[in-house]
Amino acid sequence: MDQKLDGIYQEVLHRNPGEVEFHQAVLEVFETLGPVMAKYPHFADIKIIQRICEPERQIIFRVPWQDDTGEIHINRAFRVEFNSALGPYKGGLRFHPSVYLGIIKFLGFEQVFKNALTGMPIGGGKGGSDFDPKGKSDSEIMRFCQSLMTELYRHLGEHTDVPAGDIGVGGREIGYMFGQYKRITNRYESGILTGKGLEWGGSLVRTEATGYGAVFFTQEMLKARGDSLEDKKVVVSGSGNVAIYAIEKAHELGAIVIACSDSSGIIVHEKGIDLDTVKRIKEVERRRISAYLEFHKDARYVEGGNIWDIPCDVALPCATQNELNGKDARTLVKNGCIAVAEGANMPTTPEGIQVFQDAKLAYGPGKAANAGGVATSALEMQQNASRDSWSFDYTQVRLQDIMINIHKNCFETAEEFGSPGNYVVGANINGFIRVARAMEAMGLI
Ligand code: NDP
Repeated sequence: MDQKLDGIYQEVLHRNPGEVEFHQAVLEVFETLGPVMAKYPHFADIKIIQRICEPERQIIFRVPWQDDTGEIHINRAFRVEFNSALGPYKGGLRFHPSVYLGIIKFLGFEQVFKNALTGMPIGGGKGGSDFDPKGKSDSEIMRFCQSLMTELYRHLGEHTDVPAGDIGVGGREIGYMFGQYKRITNRYESGILTGKGLEWGGSLVRTEATGYGAVFFTQEMLKARGDSLEDKKVVVSGSGNVAIYAIEKAHELGAIVIACSDSSGIIVHEKGIDLDTVKRIKEVERRRISAYLEFHKDARYVEGGNIWDIPCDVALPCATQNELNGKDARTLVKNGCIAVAEGANMPTTPEGIQVFQDAKLAYGPGKAANAGGVATSALEMQQNASRDSWSFDYTQVRLQDIMINIHKNCFETAEEFGSPGNYVVGANINGFIRVARAMEAMGLI
């Protein structure tokens, strides 16, 4: 790494002790910024990088709530408002027991560059709580969401901070939070949250956007190599929002998805995952993926199995951070995998990324490949601002255009900075320069 950048990295480690995921996200960006520092040395003089690594604001608060038996629970919630140089803070809320400040900061940091890459007027932020939604009743989820919003509402606004969903936060949770915001403020402000229901300010395609976008990005990477998704065997980790719609679009484009998973195990179905079954189990019944076997006797379930051991042409990690390590990457390469696109945020470890890059397979990092979700959130904000609602087809075309453009920008930036075909370099540098230029123009902020 460039010596100046290494010095700044040491400072980041020192100022943010124990936040290993945040360190990892920062390191991944720094490792690609050397050529930018050489081309634009004045960015170092005005300490743009140090400023980008320090969130503008971090909010940590208590969320007390009562379960159905009357017992009181106390969770901790976070909102990290990372950077607003390009627009209001934008980024999801995650409910998962693993959530702590380091996870929210890694996600917020990535979000800053991702949002810049979309070319839309959105800054970066992220939030969440260590609340575990698994096994909770609807009314417990509602009470938790209401309690969280009772504090969070004062920090939101269509021109200030606009959260959305992430792991553990879907349409149901967004509904409960929006309802509480409206109740407290006595204002119907559609623009304060995205991922809303279609009847009350949501956008068509938002639910599908991250998964669809990741597959559109895969299609562009393959096109750049004279190939396509037609008849490719695809493996998708996870079976949540991103995974489900990645499977749907992959099937639509002629690929066959043979496996998906949840944190308990994997389902392998060689004739193709039946998406209606997955949607029923996960979106309606909220059960474990193992229930798939009740509907398809010819599928197999491997408790605790590793999805990356299954031979495939294309791998789409769509579950969580660091779910694909160096060993998994070597297995994928050995089995002939030609493309990996990250629907999840930072799912591949640094060692895994190195393996993919050495093997020169098409590797699309999350910052670029999963940006379709936030881009469609920005489209939802546009519709809310103009009190309009667009058709599914029109919105999907907008999403696809955005993904084609992100691919093009990453591809061309990687070439310009001497790393052709390296989408990590392309995404980091393109996003960084957009944010840095805006910050420079606004003076010392
Ligand atoms: P969901 O909660 O809908 O689904 C998450 C899926 O990943 C579930 O199948 C879950 O299994 C699995 N999973 C979660 N944590 C773990 C873990 N620690 N180990 C193994 N499996 C795990 O979340 P999303 O689909 O919304 O998000 C998935 C990823 O995509 C995340 O990295 C998120 O940050 C990223 N992302 C999401 C966007 C969105 O629009 N929703 C936008 C951009 C990125 P189980 O149910 O067993 O926990």
